[in-house]
Amino acid sequence: MIPQQTKSLKRQHHKLADVQEQINILEHGSTGDFALVPFQQKLAESSLYPLKPVEMGIFQVNLGKMCNQVCKHCHVDAGPDRKEIMTTETMEECLNALRRNPQLQTVDLTGGAPEMNPHFRWFVEEIKALGRHVIVRCNLTIIMANKKYHDLPQFYKQHRVEVVSSLPFYTQDRTDRQRGNGVFEDSIKALQLLNGQGYGVDGTGLVLNLVYNPAGAFMPPAQDALEKEYKQALKEQYGIVFNNLFAITNLPISRFLDYLLQSGNYEKYMEKLVGAYNPVAAANVMCRNTISIGWDGYLYDCDFNQMLDMKVDCSSKHIAQFNTEILAGRNIVVNQHCFGCTAGSGSSCGGAVT
Ligand code: SF4
Ligand code: SF4
Repeated sequence: MIPQQTKSLKRQHHKLADVQEQINILEHGSTGDFALVPFQQKLAESSLYPLKPVEMGIFQVNLGKMCNQVCKHCHVDAGPDRKEIMTTETMEECLNALRRNPQLQTVDLTGGAPEMNPHFRWFVEEIKALGRHVIVRCNLTIIMANKKYHDLPQFYKQHRVEVVSSLPFYTQDRTDRQRGNGVFEDSIKALQLLNGQGYGVDGTGLVLNLVYNPAGAFMPPAQDALEKEYKQALKEQYGIVFNNLFAITNLPISRFLDYLLQSGNYEKYMEKLVGAYNPVAAANVMCRNTISIGWDGYLYDCDFNQMLDMKVDCSSKHIAQFNTEILAGRNIVVNQHCFGCTAGSGSSCGGAVT
């Protein structure tokens, strides 16, 4: 079945396509008079303000906003109508930065659907030639979307790429409601192809991690218990195996912010996140050891700041002037959306942080 297609907020000329509008809502609510304790103040109470980086180890590259899906909760506002993708010139600059900085051992490729960038495979091969570990955030359905992507599992295996894939739930209805009609069925087929190459299978060293994220205005349940549930259900019903489940909190930006506002849940959700602030999670937020590179080469503290166009607060603002010493001295730019990373067990691209 073809995934249900809708348009990105940008294509709809939606008011939330303007990041300043999103920031205004985050700071003052949709009516202008809703103010919660500032995230900066909570960090100060935990002796973490200004938030400083620790040693940078993860180089996360956003290859573009183009995607074959239009998921309801997408913080990128990705979709088939988004044309912004990274050029080979910018990729070359990324490779130069990696060459100069051997401490950047992990390269995390994201999008959109990163595989839709026509230079994706070349880029993976070049990064691997530098001896770095590559993670790809594969949405699974891209493998089934077109004949030219059917051999992605073999390509991943050949280059020992770690695959991280969203599967919002192990049932069809909940997955399709969030990601579009037919997504669950294609995701299952893609997972079976990945398993067929040895991904997620004990002893192969080929890592396949799945990502859960809540279908509504609530926080994820405990990651360990949910992982057991997923493993049992997917094995019993589809013979699928995988390594770890990452339980991620939806951050109140872009299309998930739109959902919160439309459903009348925004204020309640923010109060929930603020009430669940966890200083241990705050000390471990992913922006402290990650740098995020946008499709156009600009640098951000994380993928969420990237989507809010909040660039790093220092003079090394673009991959062409990538300088780890300058970046190490910066203050991480934070705002109210950050409460999504510090609630409960915390949340990052690798799931819970505590
Ligand atoms: S959540 Fe992922 S798969 Fe879904 S539209 Fe966004 S980038 Fe694409
Ligand atoms: S949203 Fe980004 S900057 Fe804010 S705490 Fe999370 S990772 Fe850090």
